[in-house]
Amino acid sequence: MSATRPPPPTHAPLTQFPFSDGELLVGGVPLSQLAMQVGSTPFYAYDRQAITQRVALLRAQLPASIHLHYAIKANPLPELVRHLGQLVDGLDVASAGELGKAIDAGVSAQHISFAGPGKRDEELEAAVAAGVLLNVESFREARALADISARNGKPARIAVRVNPDFELKSSGMKMGGGPKQFGVDAEQVPALLDEIGQIGLAFEGFHIFAGSQNLRADAIIEAQHLSYQLALRLAAHAPGPVKSLNLGGGFGIPYFPGEQRLELAPIAEVLQGIADDAGRNLPGARLVLELGRYLVGEAGIYVTRVVDRKQSRGLTYLVVDGGLHHHLAASGNFGQVIRKNYPVAIYPQNGQRNASAAQAERVTVVGPLCTPLDVLGDQIECNGRAEIGDFVVLFQSGAYGASASPAAFLSHPAVKEVLV
Ligand SMILES: *Cc1c(COP(=O)(O)O)cnc(C)c1O
Repeated sequence: MSATRPPPPTHAPLTQFPFSDGELLVGGVPLSQLAMQVGSTPFYAYDRQAITQRVALLRAQLPASIHLHYAIKANPLPELVRHLGQLVDGLDVASAGELGKAIDAGVSAQHISFAGPGKRDEELEAAVAAGVLLNVESFREARALADISARNGKPARIAVRVNPDFELKSSGMKMGGGPKQFGVDAEQVPALLDEIGQIGLAFEGFHIFAGSQNLRADAIIEAQHLSYQLALRLAAHAPGPVKSLNLGGGFGIPYFPGEQRLELAPIAEVLQGIADDAGRNLPGARLVLELGRYLVGEAGIYVTRVVDRKQSRGLTYLVVDGGLHHHLAASGNFGQVIRKNYPVAIYPQNGQRNASAAQAERVTVVGPLCTPLDVLGDQIECNGRAEIGDFVVLFQSGAYGASASPAAFLSHPAVKEVLV
């Protein structure tokens, strides 16, 4: 019997951050220098150039007629939103707070859309006053918007968010298909469109978002194809021409061992077919993709330092100064079923480590919180002996980091964030 076993899966190579003299560079700045500039750890750092390059990659690969939107919820840091606001065709917001950030970023209301269940009357009023496109998610929202429009003498710009009659396969987070709190079930949409036609709203189109964090091009293609077909069927009931068709996104990034980067070429090909067909059957409609994590996730790192090292019954623990209160997702508690390690690297605080194979060790990286959930790296390999003060860096941390974490839990200091 052959004893050859397949090697354990590894993380996809991280090519977005160069190294120089053994130091990681973020926005061209060596990590130790960046830490001095920021003043203290822990912090998030986002590489402006990596974000720019990501948008350029999409522009180069996708059909020119596809409009790219950034979904602010992935990372609402004002400097980052301002940077992306200049690169993409629009911003998608999901609360009045995000709406304020989009406007502050200097993006015109014409290019902002607002989705999300349970929009309160104040939020609807703010959105109508600003003149953004509202993705209506219920009959109640449509009626409330009609009242607001009548009071303002200005019809609200609306699209109907549709809960599709299919699911996005192998998606990290399903947000359409079956019963959902998002959108209006496809089968109820004709009745809603009827009502919209009668109550004086400015109908502009449809929004269909099937799910998030998908690494399979074939699944995304199928969802886009089905979304387009669904929109075509519903357009027959619409009170006016479709000016905007938001086909969602769901483009994923590789977080865990064994995951590969998403292939864009097959998606681009299908989108070209959809764009061609829309030119004939939905003339004048702009096709929109709304992406969050794909635009920013790989551009960000979370930087911590080792505060303590200890042995416990055969395991070496590195206790660092950051944890799940800043980075819930890396601890595995933000929608994961089984905890897996984000890519983690340990760098000596002053540059080079005298890495000798003999000193390589396996360590578990934990945060300072009094909960066993506060694990940032479970039994990871370190190419030398990690010392107190060394940097522990978590990659793929640009999306759903600080703003998606329970910052107040245990009353530690707030995390800093910099765009470099
Ligand atoms: C969260 C969300 C997005 C962004 O999802 P990503 O996985 O970050 O790309 C886009 N659209 C809607 C409606 C969302 O709720």
